[in-house]
Amino acid sequence: MPSTAGFVKKHVTDLACETRVELGLSPFDRLDPHALAEHLAIPVRKLSELRDENPRAAEYFLSRDPGAFSGVTVFYGTERIIIYNDAHSPARQASNICHELGHGLLLHNPTPAVDGSGCREWDQVMEDQAQWMAGALLIHEVGLVTALRRGKDVGDIARRYGTSKDMVTWRINMTGAYRRARQPARK
Ligand SMILES: [Zn+2]
Repeated sequence: MPSTAGFVKKHVTDLACETRVELGLSPFDRLDPHALAEHLAIPVRKLSELRDENPRAAEYFLSRDPGAFSGVTVFYGTERIIIYNDAHSPARQASNICHELGHGLLLHNPTPAVDGSGCREWDQVMEDQAQWMAGALLIHEVGLVTALRRGKDVGDIARRYGTSKDMVTWRINMTGAYRRARQPARK
């Protein structure tokens, strides 16, 4: 019997693959996070657009400490809005937006837990699911295995999918893609 974690990963992967199909993407196509946000009717805003509303906070995360903020989902009742740090590289932005959209696809609501600074927090299980979803949305397993089989390297694959090389390496490790690429292709 598969473990619960394995079962959840499969469910998240299936949902990611179905979502890619809804967007008309083949396993080899790059997913545009903004097109996905539009498809899900979740508004996405750049942190730099919020300069006028909260110049000090925006400036801090854009210039002084960009690593400290990648993206967040803000709730207004049942509606959610994603704010992401556009000071990050395009590859990081894609990952961060897909992570937040992953929370939406999985219908995660913020946990009632509130930390010392008053921020809403997700729990770690939801975080792991959202990160798995981001990886599965951006890098399709079949596309990944096929690319390796064709002799593409991590850099080639990262460029194709518009992700970081770290994301590709993580997906390869998590999906056993090297091992699968060495096996004969299934008919
Ligand atoms: Zn998250």
